[in-house]
Amino acid sequence: MLVIMKNDATDEQIQEVILHIERLGYRGIPIPGASRTAVCVIGNQGIIEDSQLASLHGVKETLRVTKPYKLVSRETHPQPTKIDLGPVVIGQNKPVIMAGPCAVESEKQALIIAESVKQAGAQIYRGGAYKPRTSPYSFQGLGEDGLRILSKVRQETGLLIVTEATDISNIELVEQYTDIIQIGARNMQNYALLKKAGQTDRPILLKRGFAATIEELLMSAEYIMSEGNGKIVLCERGIRTFADNTRNTLDISAIPSVKEVSHLPVLVDPSHAAGRREFVIPLSKAAIAAGADGLIVEVHYDPVHAVSDGRQSLYLEQFQSLMIEIAKLNI
Ligand code: PEP
Ligand code: MN
Repeated sequence: MLVIMKNDATDEQIQEVILHIERLGYRGIPIPGASRTAVCVIGNQGIIEDSQLASLHGVKETLRVTKPYKLVSRETHPQPTKIDLGPVVIGQNKPVIMAGPCAVESEKQALIIAESVKQAGAQIYRGGAYKPRTSPYSFQGLGEDGLRILSKVRQETGLLIVTEATDISNIELVEQYTDIIQIGARNMQNYALLKKAGQTDRPILLKRGFAATIEELLMSAEYIMSEGNGKIVLCERGIRTFADNTRNTLDISAIPSVKEVSHLPVLVDPSHAAGRREFVIPLSKAAIAAGADGLIVEVHYDPVHAVSDGRQSLYLEQFQSLMIEIAKLNI
């Protein structure tokens, strides 16, 4: 942390700041500048409570320079993390494509979509058994029956499975059935769930909350990692902005922003960002071109009758086109 002194701060005020820092158990090093002095705080392991420091006489402001996250930071771990799922590795050079319906609706529905996305080149199958819906009256998912269907999909197709745990009450069950546990945007700051996710053995797909900064996303990942699970894939899925041409605004800059400061792989969900299937292919191409480690895409053979998110789900043929378009990017 840096304590920035006012232009007219006196030597006594600077000394008082240094003493205060020492009373907190750290060292304060004054760095005189052209017009003002900054006092650098060193020796702290975690975040410093800065409200008292900020209110000392002569202090203009305090600036955090050390990142509040440690384990997910590139400073701690300079090499990019690879998530090894056996047949699939996330974070290697080739983008990993996850595809499937928003929700598992029936065994027939799940298997038809799975066979098709597999044929087109997807490696991981998505489908919600527990659905976090905005309305309590909307379809909430098939629960454990949905998880059983996902196991069947794995067995029949060899695709790996990603599915969401929505609560601490279902994460252990989800863990038994899935290869990757998804934590959805609405739960990005559900700290009890994050801690539980940190205690499982499964890789976690952590989606960015729609009003969360990159730092908040990384702090949530830090929760998981500080419990012992380092297998985390982050996912940009669109954030809320004033723009109303899409359901959410895909923050393409999240990809290089995360990669600049963290070693964790980043996926993009163009479906929940766009909210309209017409935009899913261009957003997917943009994401891959910007360095995303993969995509998670909603696909349905009959999106008009899908129980959730039909408007943004690609038809099977459109998913095939998406895979062809991505291959052309040569990444
Ligand atoms: C989903 O993947 O189906 C989902 C609900 O996504 P999000 O949490 O990003 O809204
Ligand atoms: Mn969905």
